Amino acid sequence: MMFIAHMPAGFLLARRYLKSERDNAHYIKFLIVGLVASIAPDFDLAYFHLIDNRQHPHHSYWTHIPIYWVGIYALLVYPIYRFFGRLGIKLLSLFLICGLLHMVLDSIASGIKWLYPFNTDYHGIWRIPAVYDWWVANYLFHWTFILELLICSLAAFIFLRDRSLLNDFKYQFLIIMYQLRPSTRILRGLVKIDKESIK
Ligand SMILES: [Zn+2]
Repeated sequence: MMFIAHMPAGFLLARRYLKSERDNAHYIKFLIVGLVASIAPDFDLAYFHLIDNRQHPHHSYWTHIPIYWVGIYALLVYPIYRFFGRLGIKLLSLFLICGLLHMVLDSIASGIKWLYPFNTDYHGIWRIPAVYDWWVANYLFHWTFILELLICSLAAFIFLRDRSLLNDFKYQFLIIMYQLRPSTRILRGLVKIDKESIK
């Protein structure tokens, strides 16, 4: 597993995907789906710590096994298309590739059962050794943490440079506020953002 870079990496990939689709009207939806998918495999951590009492290795759960992701994708393609159309398929595909990205990143400093069910071995490039008692320290003091910091800085840089994304966040926020409590001040804010985004 990676420690902090999953979401920033998901952000970068979702943004790339969105650009290739040129679907700016659904910017926020794409980002939310990408971000959730990029950490979704680690939802098993909750099970790992709370229910399973750490009986099995974290990456042995189905959420970290690629074939399940591909299988569920295949099962959902048709119903999602029926109910949500092309946008639904785009978002479902984004969910799949961001989930797989998570597993690619997990393969850098750990292992993933890429060939399951044909082969139950974990495939990965390096393993982070358990040197320290405190498991977080094992990640912080391993050189792959530099890679994580690089991904995080790149994502932060791109996020802060992205005016249209920041504007979109403000816009969505103001719309929610307006629905809760309409006021001319909020309307003025919306008009201002509108003007800025045309520039
Ligand atoms: Zn993971």
